[in-house]
This record gives sequence, C-alpha cells and structure tokens, in this order.
Amino acid sequence: MSDFLSTGTLPEHYRDLALTVRDFANQVVAPVAAKHDAEHSFPYEVVAGMAKMGLFGLPFPEEYGGMGGDYFALCLALEELGKIDQSVAITLEAGVSLGAMPIYRFGDEKQKQEWLPRLASGEHLGAFGLTEPGAGSDAGGTRTTAVEDGDSWVINGSKQFITNSGTDITALVTVTAVTGETGGKKEISTILVPADTPGFIAEPAYNKVGWNASDTHPLSFTDVRVPKENLLGERGRGYANFLRILDEGRIAIAALSVGAAQGCVDECVRYAGEREAFGRTIGSNQAIAFKVARMEARAHTARTAYYDAAALMLAGKPFKKQASIAKLVASEAAMDNARDATQIFGGYGFMNEYPVARHYRDSKILEIGEGTTEVQLMLIGRELGL
Ligand SMILES: Cc1cc2nc3c(=O)[nH]c(=O)nc-3n(C[C@H](O)[C@H](O)[C@H](O)COP(=O)(O)OP(=O)(O)OC[C@H]3O[C@@H](n4cnc5c(N)ncnc54)[C@H](O)[C@@H]3O)c2cc1C
Repeated sequence: MSDFLSTGTLPEHYRDLALTVRDFANQVVAPVAAKHDAEHSFPYEVVAGMAKMGLFGLPFPEEYGGMGGDYFALCLALEELGKIDQSVAITLEAGVSLGAMPIYRFGDEKQKQEWLPRLASGEHLGAFGLTEPGAGSDAGGTRTTAVEDGDSWVINGSKQFITNSGTDITALVTVTAVTGETGGKKEISTILVPADTPGFIAEPAYNKVGWNASDTHPLSFTDVRVPKENLLGERGRGYANFLRILDEGRIAIAALSVGAAQGCVDECVRYAGEREAFGRTIGSNQAIAFKVARMEARAHTARTAYYDAAALMLAGKPFKKQASIAKLVASEAAMDNARDATQIFGGYGFMNEYPVARHYRDSKILEIGEGTTEVQLMLIGRELGL
C-alpha cells in the first residue's frame, strides 16, 4: 500500500479481497440479516462462514494462524460487510481489532501461541473490556481491581457494554484493572481472563436500539483468580496499550461506517430509479438526485479519510489525528446517510425489515462506540496543540 493510495486504484490483492467479501456479504449475510436483527440472535452460521474465509486472521502472520495480510485488508472487509449488516461487521471488528490484536501487539510469545491461533481461526472470539459503569470516555476512571495473591491475580469489579463477551464461542475477555498506585496515580494493567474462569459472569444481554445481532453484555468479576502470567504487556502500561488499540480501532470503525454510508447510497440509487410518484421515478426529481449525490460525496470523502489513516499506520508514521478524523467524518456520514436514505424510502424506510431502517437504527452507535464524536474532537484538538 502506498502513502498516496487512491480509492480508485487499489492494488489487485486488496481489490480481490474486497470483491470476495462483497460476494459473501450479498450471498450469505444479506439473506439472514433481517431475521437475526428481528430475533436479536447471534449469527453463528455467518461467523462460521467468515472464519472459513480466514477473515478473523486477516492482519496476523501465518505463524499465528493468520492470513499474513494487514490492517488495511481488515478495513476493506469491514467496509464490505458494513454495507449489508453492521452487526456482522462489528462482530468481526471487535473479534480482530479488540479481541485478538492486544495479544498480538502486547503479548509474550507463550500468550501469542496459546491464544492467537484460536482467535485468528475464528473458532473462538475474544472481547475487550475497558468500559465500566463509571468509566466510558474517561476510561482512566477504571474501578475494577486486580490484587496479587501468591501466583495469581484476583479480580473484582464490573465492565459494561462489552462486545462478543457472552457468545457460545467467546474464549476470553481482556480487561483493564487497577493493580496499584504509583506517584498518587492509579496503576492500570491489562489481564487476560479466560471465559470459563469461576467468578466471571456475562450478565444477560442488553436490549439495544440497533446492532441487534451483535453480542453485548455487562460483565461481573467476583474473586476471579487467574495466573500471574495472564498479565498482558507491562504492568502499569494497560491504559496506554489500550489507547493504542483504540487508535487503530478507530480506522476499522471508520471503514465499517463507510460501508454503512455506501450501503445507504446503493439502496437509494436502486430505489429512486424504481419507485414512481406523480408519473415518474422519484430519482428523476433533482431534489432526490441531489440528496443521493450528497450521500455519495459523504461516503467517498470518508473513505479517503480512512485510507489515509491506514496508509500512515502501515507506513509506521503517526496516525492518531488522521484516525480520529476518519472516525469522526465516517460515523457522521453513516448517520447522515441513514437518515437521508430513510427519507427517500418514505414509509418503507420506517419498516424494520428494510436495510435502510436497520442502518438508521444501527448507525447511531458509530458516533458513540470506540470514542464518541466529542472524544474524537478532543483528540484532534489536542493534536493541534489546543
Ligand atoms: C453496542 C456497544 C458496544 C460496545 N462495545 C464495547 C467493547 O467491546 N468494549 C468496551 O470497552 N466498550 C464498549 N462500548 C462502550 C463504548 O465505548 C462507550 O459507551 C463510549 O466510549 C462512551 O462511554 P459512556 O457510554 O460511558 O459515555 P460517557 O463517557 O458517560 O459520555 C456521555 C456523553 O458525554 C460526552 N462527554 C464525555 N466527556 C466529555 C468531555 N470532556 N467533553 C465533551 N463531551 C464529553 C460524551 O461524548 C457523550 O456524549 C460499547 C458500547 C455500546 C453501546
């Protein structure tokens, strides 16, 4: 991938991947998306299909069971899935970027060998537990504690809104916990908690506005005992490490959002060309064509923003500001396009089984998860020295 990658000139291997995932999204995901959304059921068969294609292993080296690709490849897959079903896309995003990536980035060799092949195969899912009832945007407000006791950490506390944390194939949750205090400041570390550890409970799933087919639970930890070797990365570096993971994750969420924004455009181009009112197609009214043109422009500019952030990241250059910009503009593009698409579909756009209605309900969380819009603005301002 070059520093100046254009949306129109993707190298062949990236383009082939995007087209393969597009086919999968249209043929396998689309037919069951409305059903899983209505039933609030986790799409195990779709996840198994993505696993078979190697999507959960996209950015990991082959020695850990991965596909030997990179983070941009993951983003392209997320964009294609996000067009059709955001729940499926976020299941992949959270599984790879939040579940497995912290182990790849910060784990020791033993942890990588133990966990990555299982997670990269998609046979199991990992989750990322940062948010707590009193610590969301201000994630440093973590209250969950991990206390040393002999050869173990004993964890007590709770986490909130954790994706992929309670499925039948969830194998572990990586959590941040306060492990001490240095210089009057909380020492926050990251610890791997296998899902079958006594005292760890994924409480009943939330009843959400959208992303109904994705798995989200509150978690509780009561005297959860794990070996000391489950510490992930350096003690006291947990918060900093998670921030790095979130910087990358923002590019992935931006890609998913671009998919959602583009999915709305695709639906509207088709519908506006077919639906007739006053003796002609609604798309032949300039008011509708202009709306769709603006939607396309939003999706396109947001795509260039995430391509740019990904190019910097892969080149090993600073990308924090660009990742936040991409997440900001792409999540807004998704929400704005979903609102406009619903308007163009008229009453049908308000019926849950229509894809644009699903995008309308699903897109709001894109402006909240992995850093709210306000947090992105805060980060961009900070990068500007304000
Ligand atoms: C479906 C779903 C899935 C999720 N998955 C995960 C997951 O897998 N792992 C995980 O750890 N978390 C997850 N989250 C949590 C998500 O990241 C948080 O909800 C998000 O970071 C916001 O935190 P909060 O909800 O506590 O809101 P708060 O931090 O309480 O913010 C409330 C409002 O205040 C604003 N605000 C806060 N501080 C400021 C400020 N200084 N200036 C201006 N405005 C401010 C915020 O932007 C927001 O609008 C998920 C959430 C949802 C809903």
